[in-house]
Amino acid sequence: MVTGASRGIGRAIAVALAGEGCRVALAGRDRAALDATAALCADGAGPIVVADLTDPAHDDAFRAVLDAFGGELDLLANVAGTPGRALGLNDLGDADWDSAFALHVIGPARLQRLCHDALARTRGAVVNIGSIAAHAAVPRSAAYSAAKAAMVALTRATAIEWAREGIRANIVEPGYVATEFNAPLIESGFEPQLLAKVPTRRAVTPEAVARAVLFAGSPDNPDVTGAVLRVDGGQTARL
Ligand code: NAD
Repeated sequence: MVTGASRGIGRAIAVALAGEGCRVALAGRDRAALDATAALCADGAGPIVVADLTDPAHDDAFRAVLDAFGGELDLLANVAGTPGRALGLNDLGDADWDSAFALHVIGPARLQRLCHDALARTRGAVVNIGSIAAHAAVPRSAAYSAAKAAMVALTRATAIEWAREGIRANIVEPGYVATEFNAPLIESGFEPQLLAKVPTRRAVTPEAVARAVLFAGSPDNPDVTGAVLRVDGGQTARL
């Protein structure tokens, strides 16, 4: 099951999983966009869930997916995310902090809880999509960065608490990916300056992030749990 599957990194993860022969449940808020992802997944397209992750009233839609999968789930990928409003610390209000944590921490934790039994039945895996912003501050992104840092802690807690049931949990942290997420940055013409600081001098592709998710989620890697896997072109490796 992949959240944020309507576009960008989530769509690439869904397509990659389908390419590996998985049946992929696609969660997001935009039905037409999810249908487009389903078309790309071809035979791998599973149930579609139209739901806002921050709204617990939509939990039944996720439960219905687990029922459709016979109560078994191999992989939960928490991908949905948004940068939120680009504001400095003095202008970020409680609502900005609430929505950042609702989407990147509380929603994923709730979905993990909801999927726990189904994951335990397959000795499956959770892969959360964090961000390098958890480790190095991005200007005017304090709430987002703090929420992604909390997501690292959530992932580590999941790894140690659920290991006894054979469930693994890892976090994949992309660097700069040229998705709609970064539309304002791209439109402002700042991209070349940003890429000049990335050792590989190029944007990370959604497909590269998806390959890391396949690795982190694969049952072939039973000892990989609690890991933070960066896919950032070396951006955070340099001073
Ligand atoms: P995107 O904007 O293309 O896609 C984000 C997806 O999340 C969309 O499908 C959107 O509908 C969904 N979403 C947002 N709010 C939601 C909500 N309340 N309920 C349900 N779905 C919701 O962005 P992307 O680049 O594909 O980002 C995917 C993930 O990768 C995010 O968690 C983001 O924080 C993370 N990330 C992105 C970058 C980057 O440079 N693009 C870098 C690091 C981390």
